[in-house]
Amino acid sequence: MIKKMNNLKTGIKVLSDRVICNTYRRLPIVFMRGRGCTLWDDQGRKYTDFLAGIAVCNLGHSCPEVASALCRQADTLFHVSNLYYTVPQTELADWLVSHSFADRVFFANSGAEANEAAIKLARKFFFDQGKTGRCRIIAMENSFHGRTFAALSATGQKKVREGFEPILEGFDFVPFNDVDAVRQRLDDTICAVLIEPIQGEGGVRAPDPGYLESLRDLCDETGTILIFDEIQTGIGRTGKFFAYEHFNVTPDIMTLAKALGNGLPIGAMLATEKVASAFSPGAHASTFGGTPVITAAALEVVRLMEREQVVERCARIGAYFKSRLEWLAQRHEIIEDVRGMGLMLGMRLSVPGASFVSACLEKGFIINCIQENILRFVPPLIITEEEIDSLIECLDGLFSNPSICGE
Ligand SMILES: *Cc1c(COP(=O)(O)O)cnc(C)c1O
Repeated sequence: MIKKMNNLKTGIKVLSDRVICNTYRRLPIVFMRGRGCTLWDDQGRKYTDFLAGIAVCNLGHSCPEVASALCRQADTLFHVSNLYYTVPQTELADWLVSHSFADRVFFANSGAEANEAAIKLARKFFFDQGKTGRCRIIAMENSFHGRTFAALSATGQKKVREGFEPILEGFDFVPFNDVDAVRQRLDDTICAVLIEPIQGEGGVRAPDPGYLESLRDLCDETGTILIFDEIQTGIGRTGKFFAYEHFNVTPDIMTLAKALGNGLPIGAMLATEKVASAFSPGAHASTFGGTPVITAAALEVVRLMEREQVVERCARIGAYFKSRLEWLAQRHEIIEDVRGMGLMLGMRLSVPGASFVSACLEKGFIINCIQENILRFVPPLIITEEEIDSLIECLDGLFSNPSICGE
């Protein structure tokens, strides 16, 4: 019986590779169950999760409070059209508005969709003023904004865009952390500057001191809309609820997704009243955006984070984690730097990182590698010091092992 079950489960990999589009390079594991920072595979093996679905499950896996909010709403009303009012959608928007710079929210189903809404809104804002030529957007090299066409067109990474030309027109790329490049590019064709306050997929790259403030000033001087993509940095990840709170700036538009639903699909675009006023009935829409069953769960996510002071905890534990990574960096020459804020951390190696990801997995730790040689750590915000210590011990062993280090 057990043998038969194991065969069935190993069969899943084979079946999946046959019936699912081959767009993901998957590691050979079938996950069955998760709780807090722990995941279990089909062999009953246990893993500590330092990836959290790529900065998604900030409150850990199968968070009981979110699960009951979801079940309660599922038992009451799944969905009605956005042609009507619903309570959970309204309450979530009200929570977001009262905890941020924003006045209004548009709900979507993913990060890319939230960015689509932001890009459409920025263009519509100037169109409504008769400035139809003011439609271009300055975005950053090495940015990541998603895979739909406008989000893709705003993404400054050749490997993401290749094969899909012609992409959307109207995006200009400048290097991250280069104020002058933005200043030189700004003119009356530019409607918005779009930036991740801390670049995620591009390599966990934080802004230089004063950089975002200078961008805000430039946008104010020219009447340009400043858009922060906080899809990865938002919802507590960096040790503030929104990353912009670390800096002395607020954007005009901000996009959220990833951790907002703690694993359920939701995206949101937040904007000031002034900018949001360009969206009138019929201008934009989504069938599922803000649907009751998902927004009820997301509302519990943000309320629980506030109740349990998860963000303050993230700042504290993130500083501890970073200090432990820096301790590793002093011991091992292979580590070139440690980067990031809160629990959005990275470590650049002088060699490719893939073998370390596999070796960690063997030892029961889920980490990930971006840009070939940057190990990324984005665990649930409820990760403990003990769990961090055991990962550090594991990494210390791996970095001391010449065969894994490729020496
Ligand atoms: C993940 C991510 C996106 C895309 O989100 P999807 O939900 O996958 O569409 C966009 N921007 C940033 C900064 C991200 O990290």
